[in-house]
Amino acid sequence: PASTTMQTVAVLGATGSIGSSALDVIARHPGRLRASVLAAGSNVDALLGLCRRHRPDHAAIADPDLHAALRDGLAAARLPTQAHAGMDAIAELASGDACQTVVAAIVGAAGLDSTLAAARAGKRLLLANKESLVLAGELLMAAAREGGACIVPIDSEHNAIFQCLPEAGAGDWGPGTGESSCPRHDGLRRIVLTASGGPFRGRSREQLADVTPAQAIAHPKWSMGPKISVDSATLMNKGLEVIEAHHLFGLPGDRIDVLVHPQSLVHSLVEFIDGSTLAQLGLPDMRTALAVGFGWPRRIESGVAGLDLLAHGRLDFEAPDTDAFPCLRLAYAALEAGGTAPATLNAANEVAVSSFLQGRIGFLSIPALVEETLAALPAAPAASLDALRDADVRARSHAMKLSTRMTAT
Ligand code: NAD
Ligand code: MG
Repeated sequence: PASTTMQTVAVLGATGSIGSSALDVIARHPGRLRASVLAAGSNVDALLGLCRRHRPDHAAIADPDLHAALRDGLAAARLPTQAHAGMDAIAELASGDACQTVVAAIVGAAGLDSTLAAARAGKRLLLANKESLVLAGELLMAAAREGGACIVPIDSEHNAIFQCLPEAGAGDWGPGTGESSCPRHDGLRRIVLTASGGPFRGRSREQLADVTPAQAIAHPKWSMGPKISVDSATLMNKGLEVIEAHHLFGLPGDRIDVLVHPQSLVHSLVEFIDGSTLAQLGLPDMRTALAVGFGWPRRIESGVAGLDLLAHGRLDFEAPDTDAFPCLRLAYAALEAGGTAPATLNAANEVAVSSFLQGRIGFLSIPALVEETLAALPAAPAASLDALRDADVRARSHAMKLSTRMTAT
């Protein structure tokens, strides 16, 4: 019967880029996947539009002031969907009976609570919200192990590595086994994350001084939300991904390399001790990673065409330029420092990116602000979630002060 094979899915960050790709894949499998919960930050109209199309059981808006607007909009559209508001409501929906699978696609540290709640509750967790791993990777991985959650990374690079490491989940898939969120990696020498290089690849530091937000978010290969697009332009995205990979695959930073690959067709590589390297290739479209997440260990349709290598002709590789793009170096250093350093890095970066997008600081001020915040707030042991949250708050407030000072000068 349909009810036993139907996978109910909570899409958190439903109005965003990953959210819309997830809903596209879900809609291709009406007998197998159903969006039962949709959650978004503050865009009620966009959320209502998605509710009309996908008819979820629950819709949630993070901004508590928008509860009435959502409830009235659902009633006016004669939908049976229940309205909820607030971050706690989103975390409750992510961990409750309303869903079996959670697509964690809220942007930034704001996604931490709901991601953690889904991990603790043992959901199949399609994890796009990389900031939650950067901020609290150890706690999140432990919560997934204890809760029996299966994490499938929804970042093209980590999803590629997941696919290249069958022992990462293929064998003992399923809630309750716990093991699949903690892959074994005997025989693994290193992993290589590929990076497109972003819109400013090849520019010197001097040539980056005057770039605008519009130029920074015009990514050459991927269509993504504004925050991750700026992170791609600074290479902080790759830095966050190094920390993400460390937590997901249990490797130290010196066994996680970064290789610039402008075509974005090789999504990452895994090198084994016998000299073998495995890679996953495909068009740059997140629906492939999402279909892997929904279907694993089975393969399901994603709407993405296959790769015609003859048409593309060539695959190029080069080293990242950490003089022009110091954020990558800062992220490696924060991983090495450990403790609260990655939380500080992430929070300072969120403030810097948001200031840059608002036109208040220049592009080169992003790494400067992150570096100064890391220097001002040295790493402390990250003994608890509270310690990490505290580091996050302190870094935000310090970075905010620096940003105001940079704006003034
Ligand atoms: P986006 O800006 O397009 O969407 C963000 C979503 O989060 C929106 O639905 C927004 O309403 C919601 N949101 C924002 N603040 C919120 C809050 N406080 N509470 C609840 N919801 C909130 O971003 P995106 O590109 O879809 O990225 C989402 C996440 O996925 C990020 O962590 C990003 O790093 C990661 N990711 C994205 C891609 C991609 O291709 N877009 C690839 C890899 C990883
Ligand atoms: Mg990525």
